[in-house]
Order: sequence, then structure tokens, then C-alpha cells
Amino acid sequence: MKKKLLYGPVTSRRLGLSLGIDAVPYKVCTLDCIYCQIGRTEKTTVERRDFGCADAIFTELASRLEDGLRADHITIGGSGEPTLNTEIGKIISGIRRMTDIPVAVLTNSTLLWDPVVQTALMNANVVLPSLDAADEHTFRRINRPHPDISFQRTVEGLVSFSGGFGGSVLLEVFLVDPLNTSERHLEKLKSLAERIGCDKIHLNTAVRPPAEGFVRPLEREALEAAARRIGDNAEVIAEFRDEKGSSRQAEKTLSESDLIGMLRRRPCTAADIAAGLGVEESAAQALAARLAADGRLEIRESGSETYYLSPVQSL
Ligand code: SF4
Repeated sequence: MKKKLLYGPVTSRRLGLSLGIDAVPYKVCTLDCIYCQIGRTEKTTVERRDFGCADAIFTELASRLEDGLRADHITIGGSGEPTLNTEIGKIISGIRRMTDIPVAVLTNSTLLWDPVVQTALMNANVVLPSLDAADEHTFRRINRPHPDISFQRTVEGLVSFSGGFGGSVLLEVFLVDPLNTSERHLEKLKSLAERIGCDKIHLNTAVRPPAEGFVRPLEREALEAAARRIGDNAEVIAEFRDEKGSSRQAEKTLSESDLIGMLRRRPCTAADIAAGLGVEESAAQALAARLAADGRLEIRESGSETYYLSPVQSL
């Protein structure tokens, strides 16, 4: 069976109802972040490649649009770092020709220094880069980059890209206590965010099971205090809860393949699955529990929540 390159729409805390596009295979990435929700990077890389998926993405998207796709964004990201795909500019432009739904790109920022990558992303509507560290040492501890990636060049790339980009830049900062949460470090992050000139700063923490068991989530109060310290445009990314179902798809039958496909991208609670796939939470709970009992999913407790993980994320 051919691998599906589109998934969702799923509810995203940052982008509303978002149709995801996998632009690189699992798990092609320049980094090996200790908090990564989809597991460790076996071998980091900086080699940009044509993964030969652009036409397949356009074919799948055309079919979804014909079926009446409803989404707030089409988000290019997936199971690694999407700017490693040399076709990313072509994919963005192709989608923009096909639909008015805004195109968003998730990136870990490490290749934004490259003028070719910058040009490729210019046609996106929204770019969501991440930056978790304010110095090289912290960058290496949290993000465990490929040896050819330098912190300083990553920051300069972010500043340069943001200065020339006409769309929205929503910076994500993932806080890992105590590695980047001291007052001094938050002040340095604030200065860097000011230099980058992003529209929003989204603070996140390990509410879902991370790649490394020693990573602990910050309490909400600590995150909110960090947001106040960083500035007016900083906000905690709240867990998305779609109680009214206003942006939800119509209720539908939950299939095993949809559920497993969603969990391959990130660990989810039964409520996440319900909101993301437009089904009742009880149905999501029942199917996930059955698949876990069959050994096809893993259950992990994190904080007060129960998460379901696909075996590829099980560490
Ligand atoms: S969190 Fe993103 S950038 Fe970090 S290792 Fe995972 S996929 Fe790569």
C-alpha cells in the first residue's frame, strides 16, 4: 500500500483545523531534540534531498479538495525537518495554485541561513520556526544538532529570514526545566525574539511523552510566568479542546488506519484523537484501548493524562 502523505485535518493548538503534509520520511532531521514527540533521530543529517513526493502530494490534495476539504491551514511538516526536502518551494507554490487555504510551514530553523531555503519558503503564508536556546551550550543539550549545525548561524538565519518574509512568523520556544528556564536564559531568549521580530512567541513544554524520559513538563503557572517575562506577544499554547465542535468535521466512523496514522505523528490522548478526527471521545477511547490490548499501540502516562503512542514512537 502506498504511504499517505496527507493526514487529518487535525486540530492544532496553533493553526486551528490543519491538514498536515509529510514532506520528509520518518525521521529525517537535522536535530535530535530531547523532547521530540516522535522519538529519537537515529542519525541527524544536513543533506537536502528530493524525496520525490511533490506530485503525489498534489494528487492526494486534489482528491481531498474535490471531496470538499475544510481546513484553516495546510501545514507542511511531518516526521522530521521539512526544509531538508529540496522540493519544498515547489510544494508550497503548487498548493497555493490549487487552493486559497493558507499554507503554513513548520521548521526547526537550522537551515534558514541558506538563501535557497529562504527563497523556497517565501511563498508560504505562515512560517512556524522554533528556537529553544539562547546559547550554543544550551542548544547542544536540548536540540542535539548535527555536527555541521551551528547555533549562531541558526539565529542569524532566523533573523534574516524573518526580516524578508511577508507572512506571519510564529516562533515556538520549547521549555525544558531547568535547561532553558532560568530568569537569565529567558531574558536572553526575549532579546533574541526581539531581534528576530516574530509576530508571536508560542511557549510549549513536554505535555506529551518526550523522546527522553528525563524531560519533565513545566507547570502551567511557570509557563505563564515565562510568557510574562518574555513579553506581550508571548503566549502559552493551551491544549486545544474543541468542546462545541465548531471547527470539527462531521461525526464519522473512526478507522484503525486513521487512528494509527495520527499517532505516528505524535502521541495523543483520547480527547486529542476525538477532536482531531471528528469522532466521539468514547469511540476514540474504545478503539485505542482495543489496539493497545492487541499490542498495536503503547499506553504512556504523562502528568495526569493517558497518551496513546504508535510502536514507532515507543522507546
Ligand atoms: S522536535 Fe522537530 S526538530 Fe526536534 S528532533 Fe523532533 S522532528 Fe526534529
